[in-house]
Formats: sequence, C-alpha cells, structure tokens
Amino acid sequence: MTPPETTDKKSAVHVENLETARFECVFPTCGGVCCANGRPPVEEAEYARIQENLPKFLPHLRPEARAKIEKDGFVTKRKKEGLNALAVSKGWCVFANEGCVLHKVGATEGDRWKYKPWRCIAFPLERSKTGKWHVRQWKLKGEAWDLFCLNPEESPKKPTDSIAGEIDFVKELEGGRESWRKPRA
Ligand code: SF4
Repeated sequence: MTPPETTDKKSAVHVENLETARFECVFPTCGGVCCANGRPPVEEAEYARIQENLPKFLPHLRPEARAKIEKDGFVTKRKKEGLNALAVSKGWCVFANEGCVLHKVGATEGDRWKYKPWRCIAFPLERSKTGKWHVRQWKLKGEAWDLFCLNPEESPKKPTDSIAGEIDFVKELEGGRESWRKPRA
C-alpha cells in the first residue's frame, strides 16, 4: 500500500513519506556500507570541483583507489542518469576510506559537504523524475538496494529527527542556495 503523502510546509520540498518512513544512520558501526558499489552520478560542476581539488584527496585514499584514479580518473565512462558516475575500486567508491574522504577534507575546511555529490549528501532522500522527494525504504518505489538501514523495521526513528540536516539540504538544493551544482532532476 502506498503511504500517505505529507508536505513540509516550511518549503516547497515535498517528501512523500516523511511521516511514515523510519531511518537511522549508524555509521561507523555499519562500516559506511552505503559507499560500497553505490556509484553516484556527479553533476558537471561537482565533477569540476572535485577534479580541481584532487591533490587534496589523493593522500587520504586507499592505495588501490588512488592508483585507479591516477590511471583512469574518478568517474566511469558508463552514464547514469545521463551523468558520469563515481568509479569503484575493490567494491568501494574510490573516495571511500573508512568514511568519505570528500566529506573529511571538506570538514577540515569548515564545510563537510562542499566536495560531496548532492546525491551522497541527500541520502537516504531521493528525488524522482517528477521532482518529488521520498525517503528510500525497502520495497518502496521499486527500491532495489537491500541496505539494512533502508529497512523501516531497523529503527523507530523518524526522518524529521534522524536526518534533519539532509532534509534542510534538499530544501537548499531546491531553493537555489546550492545552484552551483546545477542539479538535474
Ligand atoms: S563520494 Fe563519498 S559519500 Fe559518495 S559514495 Fe563516494 S565515499 Fe560515499
């Protein structure tokens, strides 16, 4: 059964299952498994920012991921949502090394999200082609990823409590404050 839709009245962002979804991030207990084989697409402006700052990230990467980037770059040739996706090395995103290196370097500069693709920041929130947002949950909208944290049975926490920062981020994304990314639907 499709859960009832709710609208966040503070903004134009519509999160369909904000009241009914349950989610809790347990990183680092989970090992950051959402960064294994996820291959998020990156907007062209996000790609350019990462490329421009690549020397900052390379020393913090797993040796095999660094070697892959230095040989082939950090995105795949295969397109996802019409965009290049981040490459994977030994089953993990090339920027994963006990957490996200893009996140860690950004945090040291006072903005944990400045280098991360918006799709990684927004997780577990996802935008459909119609522009509506939802919290990813097992079996909802054909969700294929079997991450335990997407199982609503795993935690009683409401997204409004557990991912308030991510919800604010998508408001900013939709409101234009993150317009440098030039996000596509
Ligand atoms: S960019 Fe960072 S958050 Fe996104 S998949 Fe890679 S390691 Fe994970």
